Amino acid sequence: MNVAQLLGDKGHDVFSVQPHRTLAEAVRTLAERRIGAVVVTGADGGLLGILSERDIIRALAQSGPAALETPVSRAMTAKVVTCRTQTSIDELMEIMTSGRFRHVPVLENDRVAGVISIGDVVKYRLAEVEAESRAMRDYIAMA
Ligand code: AMP
Repeated sequence: MNVAQLLGDKGHDVFSVQPHRTLAEAVRTLAERRIGAVVVTGADGGLLGILSERDIIRALAQSGPAALETPVSRAMTAKVVTCRTQTSIDELMEIMTSGRFRHVPVLENDRVAGVISIGDVVKYRLAEVEAESRAMRDYIAMA
């Protein structure tokens, strides 16, 4: 299983925000879309960063409620680790574990073609483990 197949199942929706928008606007997008991170893109759609709920918490802890009026560019992580559609799910788990983050944008021809969250990976792994256990039970029943 690779990222292309996982995106085929979950969809290619990408929720993004521009860097000059405020954290309050980004918070609204996170809440409305029920997601934990948005990619930050420029007017040309190029990837500039990623902003997760953790970045917003950090900004609030540092500056208090005034942080909500500051631009996304100040709180986002600019050095984004991305993957490709050919990346395997095992590789993706390794990337998330070693980087200690829960979101990875998928790049295709320099464009963000989707975002995989740790929730998507866990869902896929659970289905895989269940299928393995079902196959094992069927095998034992036949013996
Ligand atoms: P998360 O666990 O995804 O909520 O993010 C934890 C921290 O890692 C935040 O500071 C994010 O901005 C950052 N982060 C999230 N995803 C990535 C990524 N793919 N590459 C680099 N940093 C990231």
